Amino acid sequence: MDELLELWRHAQRPVVFTGAGVSTLSGIPDFRGQDGIYKHLDVDRIFDIHSFLQDPSYYYLNSRDFIYNLHEREPSIVHRECARLEAAGRLRAVITQNIDMLHRKAGSRNVIELHGSPLEHVCVECGAEYSYTWISEQVQQDRVPRCTACGGVIKPGIVFFGEMLDETALGRAAAEAGAADLMIVLGSSLVVQPAASLPLLTLRGGGRLVIVNADRTPLDGLAACRCDDLAAVFARVAKEF
Ligand code: ZN
Repeated sequence: MDELLELWRHAQRPVVFTGAGVSTLSGIPDFRGQDGIYKHLDVDRIFDIHSFLQDPSYYYLNSRDFIYNLHEREPSIVHRECARLEAAGRLRAVITQNIDMLHRKAGSRNVIELHGSPLEHVCVECGAEYSYTWISEQVQQDRVPRCTACGGVIKPGIVFFGEMLDETALGRAAAEAGAADLMIVLGSSLVVQPAASLPLLTLRGGGRLVIVNADRTPLDGLAACRCDDLAAVFARVAKEF
């Protein structure tokens, strides 16, 4: 942990990359986890773009308690410290796989959400836009929202399985990763693309990699150091940085 903090302290262009482990600290269960409370859900179906466009009700009726309650969640120490360090000029960017909007809620400004977020929704027929708040109200009443203008399916700004990642977000993430002299991976097991390849861009650009994740990752061997305990690392960051 000392080594990690030392590397961060001396980095000129550090970026963080966050995954589900960071959301967990805010009480958001990893819905893919083995002990998840969403075991009854078919995750492959709920986020499948083809099933969704055919019939959005499976998504809307089942996401009430893990997507459309996200406004009740609060940023964790990791979200708060990332925002504080960015404001202090000690963090360039936050690249995240999470869709929970908590980095923005904590006050981070340069946030790249690789998988989008439910903050905005768009009618797939006419392009009308709907806010998270409006959609959430519908879903809380067990309604499947439909476009008020044309009756079309309304899709959240989350990247579904079967969809391409947003090219702008991906390009920004690649640029930040390539320019970083330190990439700090937080709570990601680095198995899903592009999570697995972004740290390689940092290494290729001559930067270092550090990993904080409870479980092993495929890139551990390339990291300058790794730690297990996210909360413990950030308790020290909050105290010492
Ligand atoms: Zn419409």
